[in-house]
Amino acid sequence: MNKIQMTTPLVEMDGDEMTRIIWKMIKEILLNPYIDLKTEYYDLGLENRDATDDKVTFDSAYATKKYGVAVKCATITANADRVREYGLKEMWKSPNGTIRAILDGTVFRSPILVKGITPFITTWKKPITIARHAYGDIYRNTEMTVPAGAKAELVVTKADGTEERALIHDFETSGIIQGQHNIDKSIESFARSCFSYALDVGQDVWFSTKDTISKKYDHRFKDIFQEIYESDYKEEFEKAGITYFYTLIDDAVARVIRSEGGYIWACKNYDGDVMSDMVATAFGSLAMMTSVLVSPEGIYEYEAAHGTVQRHYYKHLKGEKTSTNSMATLFAWTGALKKRGELDHLPALMDFASKLEEASIQTVESGIMTGDLAALSTLPNKTTIDTETFLREVNKSLVRLL
Ligand code: NAP
Ligand code: MG
Repeated sequence: MNKIQMTTPLVEMDGDEMTRIIWKMIKEILLNPYIDLKTEYYDLGLENRDATDDKVTFDSAYATKKYGVAVKCATITANADRVREYGLKEMWKSPNGTIRAILDGTVFRSPILVKGITPFITTWKKPITIARHAYGDIYRNTEMTVPAGAKAELVVTKADGTEERALIHDFETSGIIQGQHNIDKSIESFARSCFSYALDVGQDVWFSTKDTISKKYDHRFKDIFQEIYESDYKEEFEKAGITYFYTLIDDAVARVIRSEGGYIWACKNYDGDVMSDMVATAFGSLAMMTSVLVSPEGIYEYEAAHGTVQRHYYKHLKGEKTSTNSMATLFAWTGALKKRGELDHLPALMDFASKLEEASIQTVESGIMTGDLAALSTLPNKTTIDTETFLREVNKSLVRLL
């Protein structure tokens, strides 16, 4: 069989622990036999980040800017334990944080749906994608405790030295205060990422804030979205037959629960933090959540939403068999290959990636799955298999589809 050819390299960001093992297996079992895989490889494994003083993470992000599409393996975010475990020079920053800052992107998370794993919300038939604004608000706040008798004010000192003040509260008894900020540019990038991703996948965008209560802060988000939509996206949305819909966060929650799914829900930072966990749990499994970082100018970085599955990795190191779910990592690869195929006009590559997704879903729906899914699946005849056997079973389905 002639292998599928690629023209532009995919930026490949390798990672850590169990997902690094899965990464290699996916390439060996499901990609290399069929594709003349052209990647620019960056080893974001913690040892190499340490050896390069984290330069490799920055280089991989710049390469993504250059080529437009990346696929990333889960990576360890260093903490005090990891500094000891790996003898690190420094507690390196989260690679995802570094890459997101360089690409100025928004993260879109959506579940992979399969028969037998029914969402807890029975009306949900299609995936709900959460887009979380990843800058500011309470994540960059300044807080104080305030003693009784104190007066708290908001003070802005402008470039010309003049001041603008507003009373927060006259504290007769002790209390607390918090200062939050966001910046127009970041909100604009968030809006553009949401609208361009919606056009890409052909889905409606819902956006929600609490602008009735927060008449300047949240209202600014609403206004920026509306302005950008009208000036740059409205026509394209109408052509594509999709809509942009704004509503209050509490109304959005009620509508989401009653909906069928199949849209993008754009959320402010905190709402996105909370709602993405709610949506992921309600759809069934973190191991079935995909994630893609999209920049305002349409650069894509695909990954799984879960981490490096450390507990399984330690079992693997002891020579024990693991049953780790590779679906989300596999869909990171297929998402990236499809996007590369679309940009480079390679229908064979796009078709292969779609068939690989189909093969993996067919495998799970035929009852062959890893332990995490077997624990949730309502299929009558299910078999729990190990990490590698699952990928070999997917390959059998793939061979039939090709
Ligand atoms: P995790 O790797 O997502 O795993 C947490 C637990 O969820 C696992 O122990 C496992 O449960 C289950 N799980 C997650 N993915 C699974 C899969 N593919 N198949 C089967 N079960 C799965 O989170 P963590 O253990 O909190 O974090 C481990 C490391 O990952 C940390 O160093 C963290 O910094 C990093 N991390 C990276 C990313 C990223 O790169 N995007 C995201 C999150 C975390 P059982 O043990 O019960 O089987
Ligand atoms: Mg959270």
